[in-house]
Amino acid sequence: MNLVTIDRAYRVHIETFGCQMNEYDTELVRSLLKARGFTFTEDRERADVVLMNTCAIRENAHSKVYGHLAELKALKRQRHLVVGVLGCMAQNLKEELTETEPLVDVLAGPDSYRRLPDLLLQAIEVQEQGLKQRGMAVELSEYETYDDILPERTDGVNAWLAVMRGCDNFCSFCVVPYTRGRERSRDPQGIIRETEHLVAQGHKQVTLLGQNVNSYQFDAREGARLGAPGAGGCDWDFARLITAVADVPGIERVRFTSPHPKDFPPALLDAVAGHPKICKHIHLPLQSGNDRILDLMGRSYTRTEYLDLVDGIRKRNAEIALTTDIICGFCSETEEEFLDTYRVVQDVGFHAAYVFKYSERKHTIAARKYPDDVSEAIKSDRVVRIVDMQTGIAFRINQEMIGRTIATMVEGDAKRSSSQWKGRADNSLTVVWEKDGSRARPGDLVPITVSRASVTTLFGTEAPA
Ligand code: SF4
Repeated sequence: MNLVTIDRAYRVHIETFGCQMNEYDTELVRSLLKARGFTFTEDRERADVVLMNTCAIRENAHSKVYGHLAELKALKRQRHLVVGVLGCMAQNLKEELTETEPLVDVLAGPDSYRRLPDLLLQAIEVQEQGLKQRGMAVELSEYETYDDILPERTDGVNAWLAVMRGCDNFCSFCVVPYTRGRERSRDPQGIIRETEHLVAQGHKQVTLLGQNVNSYQFDAREGARLGAPGAGGCDWDFARLITAVADVPGIERVRFTSPHPKDFPPALLDAVAGHPKICKHIHLPLQSGNDRILDLMGRSYTRTEYLDLVDGIRKRNAEIALTTDIICGFCSETEEEFLDTYRVVQDVGFHAAYVFKYSERKHTIAARKYPDDVSEAIKSDRVVRIVDMQTGIAFRINQEMIGRTIATMVEGDAKRSSSQWKGRADNSLTVVWEKDGSRARPGDLVPITVSRASVTTLFGTEAPA
């Protein structure tokens, strides 16, 4: 490909959909574009390029992207405008998007962002000549980890830090292995250097990211990225990595998402339970509490194994908050099988649960093998029943926090009022308190005495330090 040079600062507007990994990828894309002279605008009316970094996991993320594309039609009729679709939808729905969306000029999948600046510049040049030509880069890579790119970060308190990319698990409902490719882990020394750099920039918290973050493994002796931790294959696993990151001077808190229940060796549980800088929160996606459904989903654990893991976590440290993901109405799920899930949610007592109706994703194992045969009405009913129960559980757990004083990291203004601070407790609960008389700044750790609690938020006052 010929490199196209930039002769003026084209303004890019980026919209990000979906998970934290996409937010991180947007920061990578900003860095790659900035290095080639692009500038950024929050106002899409003033943009030369509009990019949508998309998610293919949930139906509503799809609909939102198509909605935004429809809105861009009018804008594009009035003037030159390059429209790009990035991320998982670009990878998974490239045929659909190229056939039905003449509006889209550039498609780039998650492993192809290094090519994005050139694709955009070519699209701008072609458009300015009054021509139409689509640029596409959707190859998946076994090696790309963007290890040498420092993301252009916008959040001053927390920094996302991807430690691995892709996923080898092939859960039958999930599109990620097809949109983000096979698992690859970054060199731990690069991750530690990046953490030191983040501290120097003023970040107090890092959140380690990966589609299956706790399957991280790296053989520093071989420079290889594959192997079997604990079996003499790899000398770095996730327990060692997260401890090394938490030991970087100046880091106050380390979080991680999203883990898989099958990858929690005792060393990792001990690290989360015992290291003062590793936050006491584990997101532990259950998906279903029934063994037949778990098997159909390809989740590689049983209900008993999951509950044993919960037990192991709580025996080490009862303060660790657990959150989860649930899918209701997966292919052929009966009422009895759903009730198994209901009972696990009831018994575990999660701090929060993200509950979804099953929705078939193109190219997945489930789409190829299992009919999506539970009606929408039954799926919705099951979601409502779990959400209703979980709401009561979360309210009860939060009420138990009243009277306690908890270390809270200040994140910024509260959503409802700029006269209040919003922060996060170690266990990830949102905390809100009055700014009046407070000398706190974003990133500070402040003791807050909880006086009131709702289902999602703790309210309190600053205690003397
Ligand atoms: S572990 Fe399963 S659900 Fe998670 S990204 Fe991989 S395939 Fe998808």
